[in-house]
Amino acid sequence: MKPAPFEYAAPESVEEVLELLGEHGEEAKVLAGGQSLGPLLNMRLATPGVLVDINRVEGLSYLRSGDDVLAVGALARQRSIERSISIPRRWPLLHQAAPYIGHVAIRNRGTICGSLAHADPAAELPAVAVALGARLRIRGARGEREVEAGDFFVNYMTTDLAPDELLVEARFPPLPPRTGTSWKEVARRHGDFALVGVAAVVTLARDGRCERVRLVYTGVAPTPFEAGDAEEMLSGESPTQELFGEAAERAARDCEPGSDVHASAAYRRHLVRVLTKRALGEAVRRAREEG
Ligand SMILES: Cc1cc2nc3c(=O)[nH]c(=O)nc-3n(C[C@H](O)[C@H](O)[C@H](O)COP(=O)(O)OP(=O)(O)OC[C@H]3O[C@@H](n4cnc5c(N)ncnc54)[C@H](O)[C@@H]3O)c2cc1C
Repeated sequence: MKPAPFEYAAPESVEEVLELLGEHGEEAKVLAGGQSLGPLLNMRLATPGVLVDINRVEGLSYLRSGDDVLAVGALARQRSIERSISIPRRWPLLHQAAPYIGHVAIRNRGTICGSLAHADPAAELPAVAVALGARLRIRGARGEREVEAGDFFVNYMTTDLAPDELLVEARFPPLPPRTGTSWKEVARRHGDFALVGVAAVVTLARDGRCERVRLVYTGVAPTPFEAGDAEEMLSGESPTQELFGEAAERAARDCEPGSDVHASAAYRRHLVRVLTKRALGEAVRRAREEG
């Protein structure tokens, strides 16, 4: 199938992008890497009147880690996470999750911000952004605002972005000392979207107990799912396999997976149990190595 007819605009500045988005509102769609929008257009699941291609806007392709926050511009490609020197060391969760996003060819074009804006409930980066407490810089005709990743994902493939707004930057704060992270997922084939994925971020206190734990899942709810009660069960406690099992059980009970052609809800809950234990074990081991 071919896309329905649309007008094409290739603005060269953020101001021009915002003008076009303001002018066309719901009728306009931003084109970044095109790795999700392209298939949607071809299948006529998206039929925008105007495509606003941001690829000619200069100065949006950066990954900057100078001031301790990792700032990711709207055109930074997913592959750049794997090529960065500072990310594996300072934002290891991004580096651990990135290779699971589709295939290299997709990551070469697909953008980090595009994945966040697209908000697929099976995608890796939305869950990673929530787990790391990322903040998202959004620009529109009414000015600029910042939203926490945890508030950005509103519903199934729906974000807090208005039709006339552009996600210009994602900002990832540094990890506290003695923190370890882990990404675990199961997909039917390499490169497929995950059936279930989990991001674990564990900060240990000096005495070895868990000071702060974050467990955020993909594939088990319409938006990234944070297992708040499971996190609470771990905080202040000594990390043991038994406790990981109890927290995993709690997360499996609290999440809201659906059944589809890829997996049943029961199987997804089973994966939550298994992956949570593995991710916690790995994150704690890495946190100990940090300390
Ligand atoms: C075969 C295949 C396998 C894939 N597997 C995975 C996978 O395993 N995991 C995964 O996470 N993803 C996967 N993807 C999707 C891929 O990660 C996409 O790159 C990503 O979802 C969207 O990024 P993009 O830059 O390509 O955005 P686009 O496709 O250009 O845009 C996607 C949506 O976001 C909007 N948008 C994009 N950027 C902005 C912005 N800055 N501000 C406002 N709105 C914006 C667009 O208007 C559009 O609605 C796969 C894709 C393919 C084709």
